Amino acid sequence: MNGKTIPPFYLVGVGLWLVVVVTYWTFGLGFLALDLRHRPTSLYARKIQAERSFDRKKLARLVAQLLFGQIVVLLPFALLLGWLAERGIGIVVTPQFPRIIDVAWQLGVFVAWEEVAFYYSHRVLHHRLFYERFHKMHHEFTAPIALCASYAHPVELATGNILPLILGPVLCRAHVATTALWFAVAVIGSQMHHCGYRFESAVLHLPGFDQQPDFHDFHHEVFRGNYGLIGVLDWFHGTDGRWRAALAVRKRQPEAVAEAEGGGGGRRRRSAARRRRGFGLLAVASSNASFRI
Ligand SMILES: [Zn+2]
Ligand SMILES: [Zn+2]
Repeated sequence: MNGKTIPPFYLVGVGLWLVVVVTYWTFGLGFLALDLRHRPTSLYARKIQAERSFDRKKLARLVAQLLFGQIVVLLPFALLLGWLAERGIGIVVTPQFPRIIDVAWQLGVFVAWEEVAFYYSHRVLHHRLFYERFHKMHHEFTAPIALCASYAHPVELATGNILPLILGPVLCRAHVATTALWFAVAVIGSQMHHCGYRFESAVLHLPGFDQQPDFHDFHHEVFRGNYGLIGVLDWFHGTDGRWRAALAVRKRQPEAVAEAEGGGGGRRRRSAARRRRGFGLLAVASSNASFRI
């Protein structure tokens, strides 16, 4: 793309929207194939809530809601960003790429802002005045898949997802290339948080880019606590108590959790082990050694 030939309105308004949509469906459908086919088995074996399979009957509704959100809710926000960029407000469009140092500090600011905005908007959405109306839809999947990341009521999508995502680049006056990178990273990060699989990888444990899904997966399973993305504000406000307790019990009884997580016994035996030991919550938590915030 060339900033000299493509007007900022299209580069920002349409180009950034496409970055989000293409990234979302590319990763989401890739994970969906794993969810539906249960292959390759080496990857499917990493499923956190192993006893729960994705309900195919909900797929059509999930896809319809995602398309509605991307076209009716997200696109107007993107076009507004394009309209503002055309007038020199918000996201910057220049032919020169930004300096690496600027990309680095701005990504750090975006992650910090995302943690703050997502945590508090998420807590508000869990208030009894708003939960039923606006947030219950997102919690429809207690064992989420990657495509569930943006499965939400339009009000939640706008206030809890889109505004935290776009305000960082707008307020920092980030370059369109930096913003595109941030949007792609954020979409992939959000899908990793919902994908339902635990991948042990040094890359996925980079501070600030926590892709380890156990933390948010736990929120979907128990509904309360773990409201943030990277755990800092949950630690600050003490809303990670159940998560910490689950990790502590796991640490004390690792052999029981190992059995509940698979130990060569098959799905029925794993479920029985969880019920017998009351480890439903514990078996989804990764070991202390692998969990990072
Ligand atoms: Zn979620
Ligand atoms: Zn929630």
